[in-house]
Amino acid sequence: MSLTIAYDPGNIFAKIIAGDIPCARVYEDDRVISFMDAFPQSKGHTLVVPKVPVCNLFDIADDDLANLIVQTRRIARAVREALAPDGLRLIQFNGEAAGQTVFHLHMHILPIWTDQPLARHGGGMADMEVLKATAARIADKL
Ligand code: AMP
Repeated sequence: MSLTIAYDPGNIFAKIIAGDIPCARVYEDDRVISFMDAFPQSKGHTLVVPKVPVCNLFDIADDDLANLIVQTRRIARAVREALAPDGLRLIQFNGEAAGQTVFHLHMHILPIWTDQPLARHGGGMADMEVLKATAARIADKL
């Protein structure tokens, strides 16, 4: 699978955007949706997803990308305020070879605590009620 693949409208994030499958939502407007990663690498691992149907960084229009990064920083600020991590990573994968597993562009907001090792990318599934409680704490700071 290369970096130039056709967008699959049946991908899991398209289904979340359409409201066809549940998520622990942090924020939503007409251009982005943000929700907790279901297989978190740390507490507060949050995703920010543009609603335009694009696979990766190379496919998105400048204006949609600008909006995505502004919204990502806004939500990252709320994560920082809600959870007070020691650090915070922004991660974004392009292509299977780079570790991308869902082929709808998204930003990872990954809070880091120095005394807590990160879980494996796409490791164990979290409890939905726990994710919803964390999402509510973050949303409260938006
Ligand atoms: P990536 O590897 O960058 O494509 O990341 C995809 C992310 O989506 C991974 O961190 C998964 O844990 C996460 N993920 C997969 N399915 C779901 C889902 N149904 N709800 C929330 N996060 C998901």
